[in-house]
Amino acid sequence: APSAAPSPVSAASAAGPDAARGSAARTYALDRAHVFHSWSAQAEISPMVVTAAEGSHVVDGEGNRLLDFSSQLVNTNIGHQHPDVVAAIADQAHRLATIAPQYANDQRSEAARLIAERTPGALDRIFFTNGGADANEHAVRMARLTTGRPKVLTRYRSYHGGTDTAINLTGDPRRWANDGAAAGVVHFFGPYLYRSRFHATTEAEECERALEHLEQVVQLEGPQTIAAVLLEAIPGTAGIMVPPPGYLAGVRELCDRYGILLVVDEVMTGFGRTGAWFVSADEGVVPDLLTFAKGVNSGYVPLGGVAVGPRVDEHFAHRPYPGGLTYSGHPLACAAAVATLEVMERDDVNGHARRLGEQVIGPELRALAERHPTVGEVRGRGVFWAVELVTDKGSRTPVAPTGGSSSVMAGAVQQAKALGLLPFTNSNRIHVVPPCTVSEAEAREGLAVLDKVLDRVDELVA
Ligand code: PLP
Repeated sequence: APSAAPSPVSAASAAGPDAARGSAARTYALDRAHVFHSWSAQAEISPMVVTAAEGSHVVDGEGNRLLDFSSQLVNTNIGHQHPDVVAAIADQAHRLATIAPQYANDQRSEAARLIAERTPGALDRIFFTNGGADANEHAVRMARLTTGRPKVLTRYRSYHGGTDTAINLTGDPRRWANDGAAAGVVHFFGPYLYRSRFHATTEAEECERALEHLEQVVQLEGPQTIAAVLLEAIPGTAGIMVPPPGYLAGVRELCDRYGILLVVDEVMTGFGRTGAWFVSADEGVVPDLLTFAKGVNSGYVPLGGVAVGPRVDEHFAHRPYPGGLTYSGHPLACAAAVATLEVMERDDVNGHARRLGEQVIGPELRALAERHPTVGEVRGRGVFWAVELVTDKGSRTPVAPTGGSSSVMAGAVQQAKALGLLPFTNSNRIHVVPPCTVSEAEAREGLAVLDKVLDRVDELVA
């Protein structure tokens, strides 16, 4: 979005390229000496220094501008340094920088109203957290206490966060090293037609068989032991597998039949990513609990939460909820959320993201899939797309194992960065997940780079 404020990108280089490089070198040296990084072997990583960002771009320590096709961890939904959000945070910092959760605060009240109005059905009360993992932790606790049942069913090929319960909900190899820290989680298979484990050949078959499978798991585990089915509306980091039409509604119906609560994790899918406020609303499904984070305030200040429906809300009407966080509903984070949601509404960010998906990203990615022998499938919606890379289209053999890396994927990342694109990759996939506010010209520029990256992948695989 246009800004009258001084550009952070130009400010970063105002001191001159040598000073900027000198300070980037110090940042890097201190990082390597003192910062313990997530998901990494500490001695083997070389994090890129980022000195500034604006809109859809970040600037590295050498002064190079890169097009951010990752939205960081798929959270800067309205781009970097949006002036309205930055101003809202600064204003709030001057007015009231912090206040504990037991007090009522104007920004918290307003953020809760704006979120509640955008969630489907009567998910009218918001429990605020610091991010997505703790939102899922609390959703599980609420579901267990409300139903008095111990188990939670979650999907293989999913990600729900890095804390103890959340990582055990997760259905991919990131869980393995932490397995067993939380009891009572049972995994099931969700629909994924490209690699159907149900031997389905159509979306309708995949949907029907995935629902039959889930019902069998429910029956074999014992419905009276299951508090909730918890799943991502569209699994994100595990592969952006858009479920077939009717799947989410089918899970809702199944949960109702057995008195099980439905928790939909919209941490990655919510707030514009798919061109809608929420996928569940788009699919006509009302969960009992909906978890969110990331795009709620574009990640400018940590914030997440659980939107609570009537069944859980009524359970805790005259019974204390046993849980809380010092920073629940932090005024800086809530001020950022209010400003973000106002920008999204005013600028019709959802409509823009939906149109980009339908008219630019989807068609262009399908053309790339035709042209490149290593593109097995492209799938997605809005600004939420996966390009799945295979050694050949017949065998569909992934170019990297699930949760693992390969020289082909490393080569793809290296090529993208060399051509000025910051990509998001996971296992054998490149995810196309720019900010929802990315312009059509920027989207086309990034897709043209992706074409060249795929040339390199074709070479490396051949
Ligand atoms: N749920 C989903 C679907 C996610 O994609 C993520 C993070 O990527 C999380 C939960 C965890 O969120 P956080 O990292 O804010 O704890």
